[in-house]
Amino acid sequence: MKFLELAKVYEELEKTSSYIAMKEILTKFFKKVSKDELGIVAYMSLGQIACQYADVNLGMADKMAVKSIALAGGEKEEIVLRKYKKSGDVGETAGEYAGRGTLTVKNVFETLHKIAQAEGGGSQERKTKLLANLLSQATPLEARYLARIVLGDLRLGVGDKTVLDALSTAYASKEARKELEHAYNICPDIGIIARTIAHKGINGIKKIGVEVGVPIQSMLCQRVKAIEEIGKKIGYPVIVEEKYDGERVQVHKKGNKIKLYSRRLEDITPQFPDIVQAIKKAVKGNCVLDSEVMPVDSKGNLLPFQILMQRRRKYDVQEYIKKVPVALFVFDILYNGRSLIREKYEKRYAILKRTVRQTDKIKLALQKMCKDSDCIEDLFNKTVEHGGEGVVIKNIHGPYEAGVRGWNWVKWKPEYVKGLRDTFDLVVVGAYYGRGRRAGTYGALLCAVYDEKKDRFLTLCKLGSGFNDKELFGLLKKFKKITHKPARLEVAKTIEADVWFDPRIVVEVTGAEITKSPNHTAGYALRFPRFLRWREKKPEQATTLKEILSFVK
Ligand code: AMP
Repeated sequence: MKFLELAKVYEELEKTSSYIAMKEILTKFFKKVSKDELGIVAYMSLGQIACQYADVNLGMADKMAVKSIALAGGEKEEIVLRKYKKSGDVGETAGEYAGRGTLTVKNVFETLHKIAQAEGGGSQERKTKLLANLLSQATPLEARYLARIVLGDLRLGVGDKTVLDALSTAYASKEARKELEHAYNICPDIGIIARTIAHKGINGIKKIGVEVGVPIQSMLCQRVKAIEEIGKKIGYPVIVEEKYDGERVQVHKKGNKIKLYSRRLEDITPQFPDIVQAIKKAVKGNCVLDSEVMPVDSKGNLLPFQILMQRRRKYDVQEYIKKVPVALFVFDILYNGRSLIREKYEKRYAILKRTVRQTDKIKLALQKMCKDSDCIEDLFNKTVEHGGEGVVIKNIHGPYEAGVRGWNWVKWKPEYVKGLRDTFDLVVVGAYYGRGRRAGTYGALLCAVYDEKKDRFLTLCKLGSGFNDKELFGLLKKFKKITHKPARLEVAKTIEADVWFDPRIVVEVTGAEITKSPNHTAGYALRFPRFLRWREKKPEQATTLKEILSFVK
């Protein structure tokens, strides 16, 4: 397939902001694509060349792209740079230098992989030349999207969900959408999903199971307004477990090869060589475990989450193993040679107990079987007394629901008990410049919730309080400005931000109340929001519109 065909689809997608229209454009296109190319096209419709957990980076900055454009167009670099600065859109600038139009999708995909693979001495030059070579063969339209893909700025507003929807209507049926989503939650690689549906149909999709080395989307917790609701929502008896406030870790173990993945499915193995060693000694066989890593003191007491941040580093890792000791609290097993996610929690936990030998570094989550809310309160009080975050109440019959925030896991935290404040995980999408004491940084951040149905972000509040000075003046550095409103954001004209950010960073916020608001596209506003901390979550894992609505009912 010619790359021009894909570029024309990009153009069509760019012109619309309607989710339904995007889905239709992609469905039509996917029907035309050959089975062998569908995997590549699925990645590229998201502006990617591999799944996220594979951690493939093109490693090109604006300057290198400008160099490539100059090289391809036989133009002076300063002139290209000037044009780019004026338009703020590398795609538009690249499009000014037309080539012959001989590119194929496969050729572009393979060359982009070569760019990603170029490492070490002279790699910048090799990357620049590879891109220049592509650009010199590209028509203006192709060059425009090529340049944007390279800088990770495709701006189409197409998310994973849109692609899944389009794949299911193109290759199966609308009803197959659920199966596809389930498979994608277990194997979050859109290329594999697309190839499987193309070659093996929905039956192939149904067979996708847990595999060591492929991180699965984490199961998430629901919440209740009152602990009395547990009986109705889950049904007694339940398992009540300590909720550890550290970082989620998914352990993948095959023999002595161990990988650790974060909740964002990033490979975090290099940060925790001590945990890797401890797993080798304490865990039997090949398996996938779900757990939380916590900072602990020399006696094994839990320490606050903030301390763990120091372990998030590439350098001096060995030194920090001693400075910031950690322990792993394991609470689930998803694979032990076969997929366990459809098994009941009770059974999974029994298997987990046989798989893990507890040591000072690897422990099983503290838990208790409860038949009433008094018993829940009892464990809850104990965890809060020793500085815990609360409890997670689990359905003993519940399967492991990858990527789902269902009623099989319910969290209960001290904030809920006080009845004063609740916390929300919001996505930062923009900011307003500060004045007075805040001149030189942002005065407030524009925060949004996630609308799962439409795959859009809807604004809920402007967040300006709760930051200490260090955080406040670190905001400029923390957020990378983009030149346009994020494609998947819906925002009212009345509160347009001074600067926009890609919806990437999630912040935990508390507030006093939620009330109706015409200014926020969520339809509601969080009043008196206060910053609590940054969260390691994907924007799609933030508080959803549905949760907000259930809250105000
Ligand atoms: P939240 O981030 O507030 O929605 O709470 C869900 C998170 O709690 C999960 O993503 C885990 O990282 C964490 N967690 C801590 N302890 C447990 C546990 N025992 N069971 C499940 N999740 C837990």
